[in-house]
Amino acid sequence: MGVVAWSAYQQLAENIRTRLETVAVDLLARERAHFERIIANGSASLRVLEATPIAKQYMMTEDEAIRYNVSQVALLNTFAIHQQQHPHYSELRILLPDGYEDARRTVEFTPNQTEDEAQSPFFRQWQALDGVQISRIVTRNPDNGETVLLLGKKIMLVDPSVAPVNAIPELRGYLGLTLSLKPYVRLLETNRFGKTGRLLLTNSQGEPIDIDSISADNYPDEMARFPALKGSASARAIAENGESFIYWTLPLQDGIHITAFVAEAELLAPTRQLALRVMTVSLIGVIALILSIYAITRHLLIDPLNQLNTIARAVGQGDFKQRIEVRSYDEIGNLSAAFNEMQERLIQSQTEIDAYQRELECKVEQAESANRAKSEFLAKMSHEIRTPMNGVIGGLDLLNTSGLNPQQGRFVQIAQGSADSLLAIINDILDFSKIEANRLELEDIGFSLKDDVIDPVIDPLKLKAQEKGLQVYAQFGEGVPLALCGDPMRVRQILINLIGNAIKFTDQGSVRLHTSERERQSGRSLLHFEILDTGIGIEGDQLAGIFSSFSQADNSTSRRYGGTGLGLAISKQLVELMGGQIGVDSMPGRGTRFWFDIPFGRQSQAQQEALERDTASSDRTAPASLSTRVLLAEDNLVNVEICREMLDILGCDVSVVNNGEDALQALASNRFDMVLMDCQMPIMDGYQATREWRRREQQTQEPRIPIIAVTANAMEADRQQALEAGMDDHLGKPYVLQELKEMLLRWQWDGESQMAS
Ligand code: ADP
Repeated sequence: MGVVAWSAYQQLAENIRTRLETVAVDLLARERAHFERIIANGSASLRVLEATPIAKQYMMTEDEAIRYNVSQVALLNTFAIHQQQHPHYSELRILLPDGYEDARRTVEFTPNQTEDEAQSPFFRQWQALDGVQISRIVTRNPDNGETVLLLGKKIMLVDPSVAPVNAIPELRGYLGLTLSLKPYVRLLETNRFGKTGRLLLTNSQGEPIDIDSISADNYPDEMARFPALKGSASARAIAENGESFIYWTLPLQDGIHITAFVAEAELLAPTRQLALRVMTVSLIGVIALILSIYAITRHLLIDPLNQLNTIARAVGQGDFKQRIEVRSYDEIGNLSAAFNEMQERLIQSQTEIDAYQRELECKVEQAESANRAKSEFLAKMSHEIRTPMNGVIGGLDLLNTSGLNPQQGRFVQIAQGSADSLLAIINDILDFSKIEANRLELEDIGFSLKDDVIDPVIDPLKLKAQEKGLQVYAQFGEGVPLALCGDPMRVRQILINLIGNAIKFTDQGSVRLHTSERERQSGRSLLHFEILDTGIGIEGDQLAGIFSSFSQADNSTSRRYGGTGLGLAISKQLVELMGGQIGVDSMPGRGTRFWFDIPFGRQSQAQQEALERDTASSDRTAPASLSTRVLLAEDNLVNVEICREMLDILGCDVSVVNNGEDALQALASNRFDMVLMDCQMPIMDGYQATREWRRREQQTQEPRIPIIAVTANAMEADRQQALEAGMDDHLGKPYVLQELKEMLLRWQWDGESQMAS
């Protein structure tokens, strides 16, 4: 559109220019013809005058008196008549052959400066003329400075005194006509073309001639110069005030030319207007184009995309029902169709998900109610068991105070121990179910950290540790407050779990409890408990789930160490219920560190000081050791105790090991007379240990030691299995003292042994 506008603009400018040029060139030609007519008329006047009898007479009159007083008057009258007819004939004159001015008539009086024209340039031209030629010169009148047209002609006359045969015209003088160009210029100036187009006469420098006559309001103050151009060429002339003109010239005479000029603004005005129009139209066109492109784009692209966007948001908020209107079959249309398809699929999968969710919720509800039922059952069951357990424990307690002999006292103690363990398990289960059902309530009472918590935990566990040859330490950090407020029973429970585990999972080394104060705020202290052992440790991948209920580091743990996998779960729940945190880190084979932080209230300062005085030393170690000549390989501690007591009664020395591997080790390093071998034992069972020992006996040629299988499996097949493994006999559990005695007797006790009856 710009290119079209530009070429239209160019075309229009060219048209206007051509039109004006035609007019200007026509006018110039017309005015030159006019000029030529003036010259022709002037020339004709000269010829007419030359031919008049008065002129001839004057020229031929020799007598000066007649010549100047009569003939000249008549001549000048003739001149005057011509001048009246041609007002622009400003001067008519006669020069003598030597250039002297002989007669003259001027229209207006102007002082005649020179009478001898012999040296004037035009006179030389006149001299070169032949008899019929007329000279024309444009020149400045030296008398008044006016630019004039000077015509001249030789006057050739025949002397009348000479015979006509020999008559030869001879030069008698010159006839000159000075034409004023003012009327011509004025006429020239009346020409108009276009609005500003004018004509004027210009000299060889291009300056307007007779500038005074140009009316000031038509032209700029300082007129531009219009140097002559060739042919019909045009050029630009710029006035001093900056106004610019286009002009054409046509030569007249002696560097004088006619100039036609027109203000360039006129030439450009319509084109400017056109340009403005074209630009406006173009602008409107461009805007219209942009608007239509926008409208089309909006219809085809933006609207669908916006719609897509809105619907995508709706989809994001879970509304899959909206559809995009498919307006075209291009990429956007395809996208919209694909989107709609996706919506369909989403609705489908949403429906499926909803169905799954309902099913899942149903299952979760079922599971939850099953879990609730389980917890209720556990709570009920443990409660039901606790009731008879109370009877058992109470009965045993009473029995203990009924004047039993020492032996009976020990038996009752064993029964009490077993009853306590059973009660502990039941308590665990009850606690667990209570915690799961959010029914566990914590106490908030004043207590002594050492007397009510640490000592009652450490003292009984110490015995258990001593059996394993472990050292147990309880240490207090600097400034630990002892008089606290909280639930001492639950802290004890946590410590029993953790220290009990530490002892259980440590075969040699020590177990250490370290208590310190981590933070102290007004009336409250955050205590930090650490239980460090040198036991088997826990593998990294098993640490993460260690606090989950019923979780044991690996399944073999339960076989080897027993336990329910509830202790840590309960401990974690209790710590968290008390507003604390629990954690563990461990190095397999090197040991484990359990820790927990619990915030407690602090009792008064006086109570603190009283309690702190009592806590002087925290070292509570006392290793224990046992040994006899009967090797008892048994992993169940109660059974060990019962058997040991019975063997004691029977006067035997008893050495106890808990698994087959230890039994082999004990047999290799000590001398025994008999082995009582439990069949089901961790690490290495009784069958395998027996087979191995029999193999070694054969190798070393040692006498065969009697090995008696002691097992709860009382079937004949079990007996067979024991014999096949290399054992000598089978004693079924439970057994009584008499049965054991018979078994020992049957196997011919070594003569050195003292048998009690
Ligand atoms: P459990 O009655 O089996 O001891 P817990 O919840 O008390 O149940 O412990 C879970 C498991 O964590 C244990 O079976 C054992 O594998 C591991 N465990 C706990 N304490 C220790 C420890 N001090 N050293 C090594 N393993 C431990």
